[in-house]
Amino acid sequence: MAEDTWLRIQERFVSVQGEGALVGVPSSFIRVSGCNLRCAWCDTPRTSWAPEGEAVELDALVRWCAAGPRHVVLTGGEPMLFAASAALSQRLRAAGHHLTIETAGTRRCPGIAADLMSISPKLGHSTPWDRARAQAKLALAERHERDRLDLAVLRELTAGFAWQLKFVVRCADAASVRADLDEIEDLLAALEIPAKHRDRVLLMPEGVDAADLEAGYRVAAPLIVERGLRLGLRLHIQLYGNRPGT
Ligand code: SF4
Repeated sequence: MAEDTWLRIQERFVSVQGEGALVGVPSSFIRVSGCNLRCAWCDTPRTSWAPEGEAVELDALVRWCAAGPRHVVLTGGEPMLFAASAALSQRLRAAGHHLTIETAGTRRCPGIAADLMSISPKLGHSTPWDRARAQAKLALAERHERDRLDLAVLRELTAGFAWQLKFVVRCADAASVRADLDEIEDLLAALEIPAKHRDRVLLMPEGVDAADLEAGYRVAAPLIVERGLRLGLRLHIQLYGNRPGT
């Protein structure tokens, strides 16, 4: 198969969009396998730390989406790594789908098309120093730290697409939330995000189940609101827990 006619897919399923401005909208999810980052708390390790999946032709993906909801989410892993993501994005939009691309915003993908670029820049706490030390793979953590933010790519994505920014925030205590908020504010300033667009910046607690999230919201909500930023839901985790296929 030619390189741009297939993608390695870790899973695909129909569910509700759990995060961002379109939370609650029924959507087909296509999760590509492969990521250039290695977040310490990655919630889809089968696309990053231990990638798996089968090659699926774009024709089959387009047919599968045609039988599902109008909204489609191309996620990963990192879909922007693959030229075939651009081809798929164009075909899905031509077929009348609303397409969200979920990306960490570190890579360009020439020709990519999207109705919503959902960008999740990775904060300092994502770097897996402890895990890499334990596995004697420090180079992995160093690469992640070097690559997790690319201001030029983030500027291009926020200038070229309808966008939202999503951040995972540590909510162990008020101090950890404040530290993350400061880092987020620095990034928003560097990207020159205008005040009128702060409602496109969604902050979500780290957590693997509804109890985690509820505790996180209680700590973080007042601090996030105080800064004029937006609380982000993680409806899929509240409904189903951190389970594949949801
Ligand atoms: S960018 Fe996403 S898929 Fe990649 S390691 Fe981080 S959380 Fe996992």
